[in-house]
Amino acid sequence: MVRFTVLASGSKGNSTVITGGRTRILLDAGLSCRELFRRMKLAGEDPGTLDAIVITHEHQDHVNGLAVTARKLGVPVYFTEATHRAWMRWLTPRRQMTYAQWLEAAAAARKQAAERQSGADVAAEAEEPEVLAAVEAEEATAAASEASLQQPPSRKEDPAWLPATEYFQAGNPFEIGDISLNPFTIPHDAADPVGFVIRAEGVRMGFATDLGYIPPNVKAQLKGLALLLLESNHDLEMLRDGPYPWSVKQRVLSRVGHLSNEAAAGFLESAYDGQATYIILAHLSQSNNLPELARLAAERALSGKASLLANRLLLAGQDEPLSSVCF
Ligand SMILES: [Zn+2]
Ligand SMILES: [Zn+2]
Repeated sequence: MVRFTVLASGSKGNSTVITGGRTRILLDAGLSCRELFRRMKLAGEDPGTLDAIVITHEHQDHVNGLAVTARKLGVPVYFTEATHRAWMRWLTPRRQMTYAQWLEAAAAARKQAAERQSGADVAAEAEEPEVLAAVEAEEATAAASEASLQQPPSRKEDPAWLPATEYFQAGNPFEIGDISLNPFTIPHDAADPVGFVIRAEGVRMGFATDLGYIPPNVKAQLKGLALLLLESNHDLEMLRDGPYPWSVKQRVLSRVGHLSNEAAAGFLESAYDGQATYIILAHLSQSNNLPELARLAAERALSGKASLLANRLLLAGQDEPLSSVCF
């Protein structure tokens, strides 16, 4: 059986579990590990059985829980090389240090350790074992921070350390166990963002959020699908009159921003082939959209064609998992 479960969708976190055959993958890890596990259990999915995490792009709402979740489960992370690098840069901004600055920092760390030592002597006179233990722990920390000035961070200290990484490229399909994935480029302001057509047990599922518009290559991919998950981010009027500063409005509206209700409806009306049993509207803005507006725009677009009325329209939300779609 194929199961498609949106755990969360929106600017506060995106994550979907897809099960096909004996394989289970997490598409994006935009919630904390704890919340991801909680929602998976709510949806009847066992986090311990995940085989891999696949990342669409490095924006925070797609990678928030990535490192912790991958480490806890010991599973590989699939992304493009550019996305991996952008994610690492985001986590570990390079600290440029001249040799003079380095000497200064090392001397300061030594001085701090010495001060702690004299504090320890005072504590020793007081003969309070608890205080002593605390001071010893502090000393150990000081020594460690001094050592870290001289050595590259170890696996545990490196925030970008992952148990295993696999690279894919847009345009090159790849497989994870029983699930095959075809990544395609989307227009969005990230290093190398992708959408996917995912196939399992003969069921094709399209996944396209975080895109400023739908270019011909994406239209060509989103055909012959049993399930289409499509961004319906904002209502144009609400965005225009809404609380965002002008610069952010510009970004959202741009060709590398997010898809409006109107643009999603335009696609459904003119380019969509109507074959999906399920259409899931996703990545709805909480400030610049209302579920009813997104639904209405899509329903209007679909009602134009009698053949599309069989499509079931679902809305993915931010706060709780959407019921699993099964094939
Ligand atoms: Zn996003
Ligand atoms: Zn994004």
